[in-house]
Amino acid sequence: MSIILDNVSYVYGQNEGYIKQALKDINLVIGKNEFIGLIGHTGSGKSTMTQILNGLLVPTTGNMYFEGLDTKEKNFNKKELRQKVGLVFQYPEHQLFETTVFKDVCFGPKNMGLSQKECELRAFEALTMVGFDSELFYQSPFELSGGQKRRVAIAGVMKPEYIVLDEPTAGLDPVGRDEILGMIKEVHEKTQNTIVLVSHSMEDVAKYVDRIVVMNDGRLTFDDTPQNVFSHYKELEKIGLAAPKITYIMNDLKKRGFDVKTDALTIEEGIAEITERLQEKGIF
Ligand code: ADP
Repeated sequence: MSIILDNVSYVYGQNEGYIKQALKDINLVIGKNEFIGLIGHTGSGKSTMTQILNGLLVPTTGNMYFEGLDTKEKNFNKKELRQKVGLVFQYPEHQLFETTVFKDVCFGPKNMGLSQKECELRAFEALTMVGFDSELFYQSPFELSGGQKRRVAIAGVMKPEYIVLDEPTAGLDPVGRDEILGMIKEVHEKTQNTIVLVSHSMEDVAKYVDRIVVMNDGRLTFDDTPQNVFSHYKELEKIGLAAPKITYIMNDLKKRGFDVKTDALTIEEGIAEITERLQEKGIF
C-alpha cells in the first residue's frame, strides 16, 4: 500500500485574488516502510507537499491516492487520512498546548475516542518509544529543552503508519540533531512505519534515509538513492543545495588521480574507502 501523487499541482491565493503556484506536476509514490528525505531550499514547496500528504491541503489539479483510494472522492474519509499520516510541524510549540507532557500526548488517542486507560497506555508507550525521560511526564511541555519538545511532538503522532516530519532538527545543535534523527530511525526500524523527513540539508539526512526526493521551485528534480542524488552535486549547487562534504572530498581525490569510489555517505564511510585503497597499494 502507498501514497501516490499523480500529476499534483497546488496554487495558493486563487480565492484571494492572487496566484502563487507552489507545486507543479508532481508525480511521486511513497511506499510502506520507506525512509525518505524530502529536500529543497526555502520556498521550493516542501511544506506545501507535507500538507497535501496528510490532507490539510487538497491538490488544485491532479490527484492523491491513499492506500488505493482517490482522496478527492466525495466519500473519502479525510479524518482517517489525518490519523494515518501524522504531521509533525517544524516548531513543536505549534503542536503542544496541554498543561503536562502526558496530557499532550494523550490528546491524539482521546480525539480518536479511546478510553482514558487506553489513551494513557498509548501515551506511555509513545513517550517511551521516543526515549522521553519518565521523570518529566508531568512537566509543562513549554518548560522543556528544544530536543525534548521535539520528542513530545513526535510522540503525539506516534501511532500512524506514515509520519511526515517538517525540519525536525531545526534550531538544534549537532548533538541534538543526531539524537533526534537517530531516535526517528530507531522508531522506524521498530515499527516499520514510513517516514518522510523534510530538510534543507543533505548532510543531515545522508546517513539516515534510503531515498532522497529533491524539490526546486515547486518541481520534483531528483528522486533516487542518496548516492545517486549526491553524484549530481554540481546540479544541486545550481539550485542552492549542497551534497555532504564527504562527496566533495571523494570527488576531489578522484580528480587528483586517487582511484576511490565517490559514493560514501558519511565521513566514516569515506575513511573506510580511503584506508582500503591505501592498503591495496601497501601504503597503510
Ligand atoms: P518550503 O517549505 O520549501 O519553504 P513552501 O511550501 O512553504 O516551501 O512554499 C512554496 C511557495 O509557496 C513559496 O513561494 C511560498 O512563498 C509560497 N507559499 C507558501 N505558503 C503560502 C500561502 N499561504 N500563500 C501564498 N503563498 C504561499
